[in-house]
Amino acid sequence: MKLTKQGLIRINFRDFLPHENKRLRCNFRCSYCNQKNIKQIKFSEKELLSSKRIWDKLSTVEDDIIVRLNFDGEILIDKWAREIWYHINKLPNVKISEIITNNSIDPDDYLGLISLPKASFNCSFHPEFVSLQRFINHALKLKQKGCPLFATMVVLPEMVNELTGIVMGFEDAGILFRPLLLLNTEFYDSKLRNFWKKIIGKSQSSRSYNLYELELIRQHYYSDLEFQFQKGRKTSGLPCFAGVDMINVFLDGSVYRCFGAKLGTIDELCDGKIKLREEPYPCFTDTCQCPTHMIFLKDFRDKYILSDKFADHYEIN
Ligand code: SF4
Ligand code: SF4
Repeated sequence: MKLTKQGLIRINFRDFLPHENKRLRCNFRCSYCNQKNIKQIKFSEKELLSSKRIWDKLSTVEDDIIVRLNFDGEILIDKWAREIWYHINKLPNVKISEIITNNSIDPDDYLGLISLPKASFNCSFHPEFVSLQRFINHALKLKQKGCPLFATMVVLPEMVNELTGIVMGFEDAGILFRPLLLLNTEFYDSKLRNFWKKIIGKSQSSRSYNLYELELIRQHYYSDLEFQFQKGRKTSGLPCFAGVDMINVFLDGSVYRCFGAKLGTIDELCDGKIKLREEPYPCFTDTCQCPTHMIFLKDFRDKYILSDKFADHYEIN
């Protein structure tokens, strides 16, 4: 069974559906992520078996697969989440297996267990829990092994003044870095503000970015188009390749266009009972929920090339 016209599909493999209010556990406690109503789950063999079932099915399709393990906690601290990654990484039609990680675990601890040419690393920097130096040291170990990686950081309004120094640190180390905005400031609370009070010596209440801060962050984006969509420009009705050559697959075997719009199950997809579209079709939601998924909007395809090392990262055309 061939799923896509081009014979290449990008899959975000995710843990739990948003309404389940669960996520993989994490060794960090970022205040904007650590919401009280979301239960942190330690994986067990059950999650490995569900994943194997899904990926045994996906290994039968003719398409090459670029997958990003997009579990909402930290894969590298969880024995069974790591086993899932190792399993997927070894499948013949999986060409790239990218993980999102907070990069707190020393790569010496796990690099011997995966196929390095297939592994890529999407490393999120959380300065409230790890120093820039330690983060960069781990990243350099990955680079020395030839693994593609890039670093991101959610830049809260309180952090903007630190951004230039952080960018220089990454530049000096030769590590690609991209900032991310956090527009929904209701998620972050006094813990993080107190942290920044210690660092910069003043406290600020939860607030939005001012124009100066937005401009400073924008300078580190590829373009205004990308920045506008991250800032919440409407996507409703715009043609998008989600559901064409990119899908989201969840641990329960359900297949979604992206975060919403369920398409069916992994069995239905791989047995040809449901088909992906051949051409981009209208976005079903007001604004895209993910700063990287928006690259699947048709508008972006002429301006950027999709990376062949990451599921939904991109490079300037
Ligand atoms: S490191 Fe990532 S998953 Fe862990 S608490 Fe922070 S934002 Fe959440
Ligand atoms: S723009 Fe975002 S939300 Fe809309 S269909 Fe594409 S990936 Fe999904």
